[in-house]
Amino acid sequence: MLVNESAIFVYYYFSNMAITDNFKHKGKRLQMITMLRQMGIVDEKVLNVMEMIPRHAFLDGAFLEYAYENKAFQIGEGQTISQPYTVAFQTQLLEINKNDKVLEIGTGSGYQTAVLCGMGARVFSIERQRVLHDRAKRFLPMLNVNPKLFYGDGYLGQPMFAPFDKIIVTAGAPYIPEPLKAQLKVGGIMVIPVGDNKGQKMYSLVKKSDSAFESKLHGDFHFVPLLEQKR
Ligand code: SAH
Repeated sequence: MLVNESAIFVYYYFSNMAITDNFKHKGKRLQMITMLRQMGIVDEKVLNVMEMIPRHAFLDGAFLEYAYENKAFQIGEGQTISQPYTVAFQTQLLEINKNDKVLEIGTGSGYQTAVLCGMGARVFSIERQRVLHDRAKRFLPMLNVNPKLFYGDGYLGQPMFAPFDKIIVTAGAPYIPEPLKAQLKVGGIMVIPVGDNKGQKMYSLVKKSDSAFESKLHGDFHFVPLLEQKR
């Protein structure tokens, strides 16, 4: 295929999608990595994976120019893809090891899912918006990313596949759902933004025993809400 480096080519077809990742995209991704370092991300594995993944391919065409800026974007159904810094920060807090079993709540665009898979995790991701779930299911395999994706309510976790080494929630939760605490392994880490629609505090929790958690607070973030009991 002839690729014009000055233009951005992303072709979406229902059955056959070609994703173009040209020098311009790669250059912008390097700038994004530099920005993430400046903002305090130090985990080289996270930075390496984010340097590889074509974030622009997760966005609507209208946003392509900005795919590598530290911005959140609409991904349809009133939802957003998290800012690169937020993705890097949450992933870094998870301390991912190869083959970790990771539960993600809020698949959304699938970008965070792809980052986790790129780190060698076995990812189980739940999304409550059918359209987004279906889209991620079609799209991620085209990047050779193969998580287990579920359409359902993240508040319930995924008991069939529990326990998990790590759990990441990528929507703002009003509280920490008990099923998620129960489905975390002892010694495991959960990263979850807790708050209301004005903003959330990022928490990381380490499960010390079946009933004891050690939690750390990591500052302010803004996510779309983790919605309850609604399909
Ligand atoms: N990780 C995503 C972020 C998407 S925004 C990305 O990288 O693009 C948060 C997502 O959580 C939205 O897609 C929203 O539909 C989903 N969500 C909200 N409440 C949920 C729930 N109860 N269960 C599962 N997913 C939920």
